[in-house]
Amino acid sequence: MLSKLDPIPLAVPVVGAAEARNLQACIESTFVSSVGPFTTQFEAMVAAATGAPRGVATSAGTTGLHAALMTAGVGRDDLVIVPSFTFIASANAIAHCGAHPWFMDVDPATWLLDLGQVADELVRNTSRNGDGWLIHHPTGRRVAAMMPVYTLGTLLDFERQRELAQRFRFPVVADAAAALGARSRGRPLADGADLSVISFNGNKIVTSGGGGMVVGNDEDLLERVRHLTTTARTSADYTFDCVGYNYRITNLQAAVGCAQMERLAEFITAKRSVRRRYSEAFSDLSGVGSFPGLDDECSTCWLSGIVVWDSTRPQPANAAELLRQLGIEARTFWKPAHLQAPYAGSPRADLSVTEDLWARILTLPCSTSLTDAQQDRVIDAVRTVYI
Ligand SMILES: *Cc1c(COP(=O)(O)O)cnc(C)c1O
Repeated sequence: MLSKLDPIPLAVPVVGAAEARNLQACIESTFVSSVGPFTTQFEAMVAAATGAPRGVATSAGTTGLHAALMTAGVGRDDLVIVPSFTFIASANAIAHCGAHPWFMDVDPATWLLDLGQVADELVRNTSRNGDGWLIHHPTGRRVAAMMPVYTLGTLLDFERQRELAQRFRFPVVADAAAALGARSRGRPLADGADLSVISFNGNKIVTSGGGGMVVGNDEDLLERVRHLTTTARTSADYTFDCVGYNYRITNLQAAVGCAQMERLAEFITAKRSVRRRYSEAFSDLSGVGSFPGLDDECSTCWLSGIVVWDSTRPQPANAAELLRQLGIEARTFWKPAHLQAPYAGSPRADLSVTEDLWARILTLPCSTSLTDAQQDRVIDAVRTVYI
């Protein structure tokens, strides 16, 4: 049993007997590597949950993003539109293609890619060359794709996203790392972009220890992702048709993932409940706001916490330290990608929302196993800091 002062972690996976049973069965079958029935089942379960005809499981969300971008045609020296307000892996997957991020800002109300700004930047800074490619004037590079990020598991408006992509004629690869189970006005995740990529890292909505999944509606595209991520082999006699990648998930990981998928709805309900309780508990604190996306099926409410709008209140880094002393793990949030060393020279639009927002965010414990009693302890502690 947890004593009153046991530390409360930020976000831990909830795994147990079902995962252990699947792992045991996986080992007894000896199919522990890159082929096996759990992988097939995991792909089918995630496809069903996202409305896709099939899913392609990968070794990580990052490798899934890399493969999805390559499949969408992103190559050396290209530009890919992406919000700077994201986990570094989004930009890294672009760089792994030999391409470069073109950083855009987010909407302050949703923390999602500001599509108005994207359209504006495209109109002002690009034109089509003789080959029909969209060329970014300041760098001379081709704009090859757009990568919206479903921040905190919140979907971007599918209609607007698609309209913009059609208007400027580029593919959309969505970073849907934490959005598994979210729906946009009744439409499932796979409808949002040409390819969408989910992560099963330990802190995401469901976990397979590590892993990713590429989903979409175009079976030919998905088949190309599968080909590229399984060494691009064309026949059993060791014939390969391009430089492929060993990005396959293992049957061991998929065994854990299958057990987790049974609990997807339960996990999302728990995430939303945590978010709701924090929002209600802190609604009276001055200068402190809550995370966007509450009570909406378009968000999984992946992480929860507070936003410190008033600069005279304790700042997130200081508050995190005070909370740590009370046995509560709280953290500051993603430092934007354009402020990271590898992307210091990447082209960017005005990023004033991102630059203002990121340092105001404090994430609080939000595991799906968080009990009301534990959450009350967090709430009391936060209130002592901000009252
Ligand atoms: C977790 C995450 C990733 C990377 O997923 P991995 O499975 O850890 O490679 C990419 N983008 C975002 C927004 C994430 O949160």
